[in-house]
Amino acid sequence: MTRRERILAELGLTPLWLHRRRLDSLRTASDSPRHSTSHVTMPEPHTGQAVRPVEVMDWKELTEAVATCRACALHKNRKQAVLGVGDKEADWMFVGEGPGAEEDARGEPFVGQAGKLLDNMLSAIGLKRGNNVYIANVVKCRPPGNRNPAPAETQACQSFLDRQVALIQPRLIVALGKVAATTLLACGGTLGSMRNTVHDYRGIPLIVTYHPAYLLRSLTDKAKAWEDLCFAVETMSGLSTAARSVG
Ligand code: SF4
Repeated sequence: MTRRERILAELGLTPLWLHRRRLDSLRTASDSPRHSTSHVTMPEPHTGQAVRPVEVMDWKELTEAVATCRACALHKNRKQAVLGVGDKEADWMFVGEGPGAEEDARGEPFVGQAGKLLDNMLSAIGLKRGNNVYIANVVKCRPPGNRNPAPAETQACQSFLDRQVALIQPRLIVALGKVAATTLLACGGTLGSMRNTVHDYRGIPLIVTYHPAYLLRSLTDKAKAWEDLCFAVETMSGLSTAARSVG
């Protein structure tokens, strides 16, 4: 059994194989145009110090702002805020919903069983956490009982996510689950209706798929998630081809 077959077996995708297109064009040219800095709002200052607007913060300022943020009620029960993890110059950005208990304890997104599945999903398309991949969540503090973040909470936290995207300037965003998709795209609708489409987030292509935590409970939708990943790879390959033709 090849490495890819072992990974697909772990994902529960074998013997089903829906796409046979080669997935060997994952890295993209680094000289293509990036999108411009987004316009975001500044959360309420919570210290006596002068704080620059989130939209112009560097990584150090952003990290400190998130760690001490009290802009929504989620700060009350957190052990720590979880900003994100990975390559800050990544072409790929994966965005989930919010930290769970393990993430809250360890300060890193997607480190539990859902994180293991996400790592396997990344491996299946030739990617690896921290290597040309950045992982973040819509909200940086754990919602109690692992409930979905409320709209007011996602709204309060969105400037941080917007700034992360602006600093990283990924070539492609993959929204993991409905909360991430609807927050980033500022729209409603079912997750199913948002799949199989290249959306636009401030000039960056965005693809929607299932959240790994959901996939742990719904084995039948793993095959659909695999389709989405293949679609994402094809989209990224198209971006690379377009960049080469321009260059
Ligand atoms: Fe601040 Fe976001 Fe945490 Fe709310 S979830 S307290 S907005 S960092």
